[in-house]
Amino acid sequence: MEREYPNYGRIDGPIVLIGFGSIGKGTLPLIERHFDYDAAKLTIIEPDPTKAGFLRQHNLNHLQVELTKETYREVLGTLFAEGRGFCVNLSVDTSSLDIMKFMRELGVLYIDTVVEPWAGYYFGTTDNAARTNYALRQVVRDEKARNPGGTTAVSCCGANPGMVSWFVKEALMTLAGDLGRDVPMPTDRAGWAGLMQSLGVKGVHIAERDTQARRVPRARGLFVNTWSVEGFISEGFQPAELGWGTHETWFPENGHRHETGCQAAIWLERPGAITRVHSWCPTPGPQFGFLVTHNEAISIADYYTVGDAAAPEFRPTCHYAYHPCDDAVLSLHEMFGSGRQQERHHILAEDEIVEGIDELGVLLYGHAKNALWYGSRLSNEEARELAPYQNATGLQVTSAVLAGMVWALENPEAGIVETDEMDHVRCLEVQRPYLGPVEAHYTDWTPLQDRWAQFPEDIDESDPWLFRNVLAS
Ligand code: NAD
Repeated sequence: MEREYPNYGRIDGPIVLIGFGSIGKGTLPLIERHFDYDAAKLTIIEPDPTKAGFLRQHNLNHLQVELTKETYREVLGTLFAEGRGFCVNLSVDTSSLDIMKFMRELGVLYIDTVVEPWAGYYFGTTDNAARTNYALRQVVRDEKARNPGGTTAVSCCGANPGMVSWFVKEALMTLAGDLGRDVPMPTDRAGWAGLMQSLGVKGVHIAERDTQARRVPRARGLFVNTWSVEGFISEGFQPAELGWGTHETWFPENGHRHETGCQAAIWLERPGAITRVHSWCPTPGPQFGFLVTHNEAISIADYYTVGDAAAPEFRPTCHYAYHPCDDAVLSLHEMFGSGRQQERHHILAEDEIVEGIDELGVLLYGHAKNALWYGSRLSNEEARELAPYQNATGLQVTSAVLAGMVWALENPEAGIVETDEMDHVRCLEVQRPYLGPVEAHYTDWTPLQDRWAQFPEDIDESDPWLFRNVLAS
């Protein structure tokens, strides 16, 4: 029997998907499943010729061009000539800011999953402050401040950044309930920040463990991952970054603050993908994660700031603690060890993965119940039953894109928004059917526990949750 899927309404005008990689290919069937639209007006912009066969077979309009700073206005201006519709940007190497601004000029709804720059940005300079996500995000925030309101453009609405911001709110309400605090759900930023502060939360890890694996061992010289290899290498080579909380009493020797902008984060003079942190997820328990820079580390720290940005009364520390799939860990090891990027890339497809889940959640720590992990524990097996063309990692991302699109359609004049600023209840209502088990787990683990007595480290036992203790030496 055919399954019935909720219909979230009609998208009037053209729909343009930019990029048909692992996320674009997984997002398309969700758009087809949940929206009404004129199929003749759906176009996919994808420069890679190897994708053309699939698009032709499925009768999809394919524009085989690479968007550049010089061409994007002409290409997109032609496709969106009627001045409405939806632009879904799921490509690498295209400027989120430029495209978002142009779409708002035209009155076209817009969504992306990351603040992406034009090609060349990540490796084109040795000025590490300029290569941070803080810098990338701040220009979008500045644009929002300069041009408030107007056509909705949803910034950074994937799994993380994206869904995890909705999980932080769910986790806060769960924690409040479990601490016996009868609080109404906050309705604005100040309310949420005040709630986090009053619950005694010191910080948040975006704590992820990807155990998806295929049967064939990784070949030397091949970078394997469960989503964009190009995207992961780019962010892995950016400096490590984290939202910097008010409970921190120490400052890393290689740490830098920012002089301008929201002031919520710092960066370290070291690539994120070789900066290890102690963290925790339900399946492995304690684990090392990589402190890879991510937009949400900054946006969450910023959103939950109480008081003046430069001298806040409260701010959580917030960062990614990512254990990618084992093949990706080996790929990173090989890449950083050899000083060379592998020329061959491979994204694990849903039909070659033989086991594993992507366990992606938020670990709220430092409160009276120590630490709470809240997140999705989606297996590849379940993902395959739920939607075509994607592994578990992909579905966590594409279902967030779906939720963001629904929210944008329902709120078409909300201006530029990050996921912290959206209705998390509505978004999770749309997304949850695609997330497998969504669970809350408390743990009594702290970063002081998994240490080796034989090798004393420079830690501070007065507060287990200081970043000094979380950072692995
Ligand atoms: P991918 O590498 O599989 O695909 C990217 C696609 O973009 C490729 O098919 C490529 O040919 C196309 N492309 C490259 N340059 C282009 C250009 N100039 N114009 C148009 N298309 C171009 O990547 P993916 O796994 O599909 O990821 C897509 C994006 O989503 C990346 O930016 C990635 O960082 C982001 N992402 C976000 C999350 C999240 O949770 N927020 C998770 C995964 C991926």
